[in-house]
Amino acid sequence: PQILKLFSNLKKEDLNHAYLFTGKEGMGKSKLAKQLAKSLQCPTGKLLKPCEKCPACLSKNLETTILKGPQKISIDEIRKIQKKMNFKSQDNSFKICIIDNAERLTQEASNCLLKILEEPPEKSIFILTTSKPKLIFSTIHSRCQTIKFLPVPKDILEQELKKLFPDQEINPEIINYADGAPGKAIKLLGNQEFATELEEQKKLLYEFLKGSTPKRFQITTELSKLTYPEIKNTLEQWLSIVNLDLKKARNPQNENLTTFLKLLLEIKQKTDYNLNKRILLDQLAILGPKIE
Ligand SMILES: [Zn+2]
Repeated sequence: PQILKLFSNLKKEDLNHAYLFTGKEGMGKSKLAKQLAKSLQCPTGKLLKPCEKCPACLSKNLETTILKGPQKISIDEIRKIQKKMNFKSQDNSFKICIIDNAERLTQEASNCLLKILEEPPEKSIFILTTSKPKLIFSTIHSRCQTIKFLPVPKDILEQELKKLFPDQEINPEIINYADGAPGKAIKLLGNQEFATELEEQKKLLYEFLKGSTPKRFQITTELSKLTYPEIKNTLEQWLSIVNLDLKKARNPQNENLTTFLKLLLEIKQKTDYNLNKRILLDQLAILGPKIE
């Protein structure tokens, strides 16, 4: 909401040449970037409020380039964008480039982008989004205005979801699991299997926590057969389950659960570095405290 206010108080010509939207996944960073781009191209609409009627709003927008997807962004792609951004459009409208998950820029691509940002073409706007701001080169950081998307408090998230889906019952597990990210919550609401899946994970997690060492290794071996995104997802589910259980009651196991929570977080962060899956997950089996 503060971010919306920030932009709606600005005039189109007051915008900076480059923005970096940071925040967790599912916070609506790229959605806002697209909305901003659309409203910039609309001749009558105000910032973030495109008219939705004019040709620019209704047609596929040719003056906006969006780089999305999981793959790395090469210097060639940035050069292509540079050409496009330098080329003046007929009606002298804004040219916008949205780079989703900007941590995908290679070093050469970052350097090339940096040169563009040092002398940006007229009426050009770059919007970079990332959930991993630490992986963005500091030189790029310094050229962009950073806008932080902070997690939405639980009560506000619940209120907003109720407004959006008045007919649906909002499972409190979803609010907890979404962890302040509205996009994640909406995705989960549409996912009927979510509740069952979480239930199964809970069973598996406690089998693991209470299990003997061989049992634990059996579980981590099974887990290590999954892909990295799947492993990360499972660890996230475990984290959310432990978090919830810690809040539920003061039980004598809380100290062990807290230790396990820290370990889970550490291991989850390491899933970004493509380490050996077995070695990584076996640490859970070896270092995780045992729960009676
Ligand atoms: Zn319009």
